[in-house]
Amino acid sequence: MRALLNSQLLLETIYLIASMLFILSLKWLSSPASARRGVRAGEIGMLLAVVGTLLHHGIVDYTWIAIALVLGTVIGVPLGFVQMTAVPQRTALSHAFGALCVTLVGTAEFYLRAPAVPKFMMVVLSLEIILGSLTLTGSLMAAGKLQEVLPQRPITYKGQNLVNLSLLGIAIIVAVLLVLDPSRMSLFPLIIVIPLIFGVMMIVPIGGADMPTVISLLNSYAGLSAAAMGFVLDNKLLIVAGALDGASGFILSVNMSKAMNRSFSNVLFGAFGQEQATAAGKVEAKPVRSATAEEAAAILAAANKVVIVPGYGMAVAQAQHKVRELYDALTKRGVDVKFGIHPVAGRMPGHMNVLLAEADIPYDKLLDMDEINGDFPQTDVALIIGANDVTNPAARSDTTSPIYGMPILDVDKARTVMVIKRSMAAGFAGIENPLYHLDRTLMLFGDAKGFVGNIVRELSGAGHS
Ligand code: NAP
Repeated sequence: MRALLNSQLLLETIYLIASMLFILSLKWLSSPASARRGVRAGEIGMLLAVVGTLLHHGIVDYTWIAIALVLGTVIGVPLGFVQMTAVPQRTALSHAFGALCVTLVGTAEFYLRAPAVPKFMMVVLSLEIILGSLTLTGSLMAAGKLQEVLPQRPITYKGQNLVNLSLLGIAIIVAVLLVLDPSRMSLFPLIIVIPLIFGVMMIVPIGGADMPTVISLLNSYAGLSAAAMGFVLDNKLLIVAGALDGASGFILSVNMSKAMNRSFSNVLFGAFGQEQATAAGKVEAKPVRSATAEEAAAILAAANKVVIVPGYGMAVAQAQHKVRELYDALTKRGVDVKFGIHPVAGRMPGHMNVLLAEADIPYDKLLDMDEINGDFPQTDVALIIGANDVTNPAARSDTTSPIYGMPILDVDKARTVMVIKRSMAAGFAGIENPLYHLDRTLMLFGDAKGFVGNIVRELSGAGHS
């Protein structure tokens, strides 16, 4: 008895420390300077959570647990090595696994307890299973769209929202019937199957461009379903971790929607990105001015103030280390170089900050959109490296543009604008960018890593000043 009490105390203490580490992890992750510590804290917290759970007195046989640990490691380790640009779909897959686990545990718990399931328990179980099931298929669909194994464009039909909401409504009605009388066990499979279908239908009308926001929302659902599972299993750590996950995922989705000036309902029901093909097709016709690396280097060397605006293209090209060399070469010549970071540049929040921090660019040189926008009128050169949508002035002036109202980096107010990209192709939102046709804009066509490398070579070689 005493041994049992001691092991229970040990378990609760481990869970308490893990909970504290999860909270500190989120706090530290909110600043680039402490982000590495935040990741470590999260990792140690998760390790403690797993070790603590393995000490649970209810475990009678470790065989299946050992098999699950090996299986989890075999799946998890390769997932840890994906390219940074593939992190959104990797994250979606993690949510799918978490949601599968929550749904399976919820199903087992129902059949272990049925038909005598107390009302509160049935409410929490239903919530766990509905959220778990829809997150499972929703996350798989989102990962498929981002990986382009499924079509990215939104697929819509008349009455779609009504059909989708009716499906969810039916699942909720079935759950209520089960809460009122859990002995209607034949209804139980419906609260798994209907949300599984709803998860697919929910993602079908959403375009690829909105997937990162949707994934963040699915993150929130996965967290809430895990918190519900915590109530079912009487596990306080799961309740805390699930609530943190649910709240942070929700806040992140709201912040991403705000940064794109979109409402939540517009992201979920707006079928954004439908015009992709037609809008992108118009691009080639208008004239643009282009320049060579040598010309670009001369302009940069003659500047006093340069703002570099990185985007998705810098991430794909893995150009951050070359960008660091460019930063060094220019600052050595006395040029004031800063970086303008848009909140949704790249494919996930903080994408640019992580890459530039990896290349050891000083944090105080990375300025958020609101901080840098006032500087552009006094900026000699705005150098855009693989960014597109986040610099599109149509968002300010063209009321018909799908991104109208999205806050952007005001690069067009700089004296000279230089844009490194490979072609005139559109960005993620699939729309034309009038910035490229301005008199003050020079297009630097090429791969971001190669072109920045060439500029650095010109700067260090010929000695423009
Ligand atoms: P973007 O609009 O997708 O444009 C990226 C540009 O990079 C493309 O136009 C492409 O042009 C160029 N590019 C691609 N590979 C390149 C390479 N190897 N070298 C040089 N250039 C290359 O990117 P963004 O300006 O960063 O905007 C992000 C977009 O994602 C926004 O639409 C945003 O709303 C959306 N989004 C982001 C998040 C987030 O959390 N970050 C979330 C949801 C949605 P070429 O093909 O001509 O080279």
